[in-house]
Amino acid sequence: MRYIWLDDYLLKKKGVTKDLQPDWNWIRYHVGGKMFAAVCLDTDNKPYYINLKLDPVRGDYMRKMYADIIPGYYSDKTHWNSIRPDGAVPDDLLKDMLDESYRLVLENFSKKRQREILDITCCGSECSKCGCYGNICQGCNELCGKVFHAPPGKACPIYRCAVNRKHLTSCAKCEELPCVIWRDTKDPQLTDEEFETDIQNRIRNLLEN
Ligand code: SF4
Ligand code: SF4
Repeated sequence: MRYIWLDDYLLKKKGVTKDLQPDWNWIRYHVGGKMFAAVCLDTDNKPYYINLKLDPVRGDYMRKMYADIIPGYYSDKTHWNSIRPDGAVPDDLLKDMLDESYRLVLENFSKKRQREILDITCCGSECSKCGCYGNICQGCNELCGKVFHAPPGKACPIYRCAVNRKHLTSCAKCEELPCVIWRDTKDPQLTDEEFETDIQNRIRNLLEN
């Protein structure tokens, strides 16, 4: 197969796991336990299709554009598509379609579950990198923002605004980012310079995911 980068590319995505389905001889890629891509292998373990999910309108268009994209083999043919692994589909286009498949499956989860899968909070913090995590704090996603540094019984102001009020997965898609609420929730232990760096790091985390 010409797409030798495929395995690395998929495993670099947040929350992705893979397994081999022995009866079908498919390498399956999952996010949050749901399959979003598969490489179908023949009896010599040679790939014969790459299966992925697309918006039905785009899938239909792609099938018309490329003879190497056909309705999903052994799958729901409205949403799934099969790509021949030695065909003419350009690498960048395949990457783009795999990205879409990943996004479509991820977006089927609740917003809370999406944040857990991405291992990131709505403000871009990575709880697992915090010394308090699993110790005095169970994590922002798990506690729905009602962490120890939030007002008693209430979610932290960023969580309240982004998740509870605006019903967003995170602040990533908010035009006000980083807003006055971000500025007002400075960790008192950080210097102004450290706080600026923290903000930039959190924005990067949000925009990369
Ligand atoms: S600052 Fe707020 S939104 Fe960010 S991790 Fe802490 S509780 Fe969650
Ligand atoms: S205004 Fe936007 S950036 Fe600020 S906390 Fe709310 S969602 Fe996040």
